[in-house]
Amino acid sequence: MNIIEFIKGLFYKQEQKAEKIIVLEDVRGNFRYHIGVAGRSLCGRDDVMSSRISLDVFGQKLVTHLKENYCSECERIAKESGVLKA
Ligand SMILES: [Zn+2]
Repeated sequence: MNIIEFIKGLFYKQEQKAEKIIVLEDVRGNFRYHIGVAGRSLCGRDDVMSSRISLDVFGQKLVTHLKENYCSECERIAKESGVLKA
């Protein structure tokens, strides 16, 4: 195991420990939202960061001028697994 793999392992363990389902935001700043744990969405993306949006409002139009949009794949998986109310 090289040092990079070792460090990645440490971060991975930390993420696992703090595994909390949250709303994630695309790192490109295009107001696209996903659901998942820090650094990994349910639909499999890792180019996401935690957002300040509550899970309760996922899928709803927010009262902003932003053209926010939501990942339907994340929504489907979250509903199927009971994370979101169907
Ligand atoms: Zn997604």
